[in-house]
Amino acid sequence: MSEHLPDDDREAVREALIEWYEADHREFPWRRTDDAYRILVSEVMSQQTQLSRVEEAYADFLERWPEVSDLAATDRGEVVAFWSDHSLGYNNRATYLHEAATQVVEEYGGEFPEEPDELQELMGVGPYTANAVASFAFDNGDAVVDTNVKRVLYRAFGVPDDDSAFERAASALMPDGESRVWNNAIMELGGVACGKNPRCDEEGCPWREWCHAYQTGDFTAPDVPTQPSFEGSRRQFRGRIVRLLGEHDEMDLDTLGHRIRVDYTPDGEHGREWLRGLLSDLAADGLVEVEESDDGDQPLVLLAS
Ligand code: SF4
Repeated sequence: MSEHLPDDDREAVREALIEWYEADHREFPWRRTDDAYRILVSEVMSQQTQLSRVEEAYADFLERWPEVSDLAATDRGEVVAFWSDHSLGYNNRATYLHEAATQVVEEYGGEFPEEPDELQELMGVGPYTANAVASFAFDNGDAVVDTNVKRVLYRAFGVPDDDSAFERAASALMPDGESRVWNNAIMELGGVACGKNPRCDEEGCPWREWCHAYQTGDFTAPDVPTQPSFEGSRRQFRGRIVRLLGEHDEMDLDTLGHRIRVDYTPDGEHGREWLRGLLSDLAADGLVEVEESDDGDQPLVLLAS
């Protein structure tokens, strides 16, 4: 599937992500439903508007037009006015949504089609939205590939920055027939843990043990062309040092270096000098101690007592 994920690990990678997602995730009202109409409304609203503002508009919209038939029966001007009043971006989205509701009522007897291809026949519904509705309403979608998902796949498994490579990798990774939980989970990972400034340790990313970026400290991505905040990446390594020392009591300098990044080479760019810089910051914060040796052995690093 990609250069950094052996096929044998695929199952473990899947389970780890689903477990992480199910243990804790952001609650959005549209995640609590499998109603295609509600999911379509949330998807169309989210295209241009911050999620926090969408929540309020979504609730108001559904109070006013609780079912697809209510929306279809209303005057289009009212939907457009609602859209402007709630600052939801281009008004043509309101027009399309109204038209799509009319199609569902007139052409499909009020029941949404379940296949992504058919969903795309609805006005204003492109491949991404069709797939999202098929996944979240019917558990019948393909792997979603959006900028968040690309960033995760690029960092974690070294998938090259190429749309068809992303599509292939995303599909190969998704467990068959589980598009609802999977697409929610991978988008949550990209939104919460693997954002432009990644929060791998803070969010307990379930892919740290496989992640190429985590192992090398290179967190660039297609939408993050330069290394995101240097401090962010230093913080990651500081966190890892403290965690490792908590597990191992004490470690010599090079063993510690090799354990926190795969490209550690004692005399290289990310070698002893780099590691000593991190350790002296940690020592200044009273978190670790470095015991120098008198007989030329490696210094020992341990948690401060
Ligand atoms: S370990 Fe960090 S960089 Fe890698 S997938 Fe997780 S959050 Fe993203």
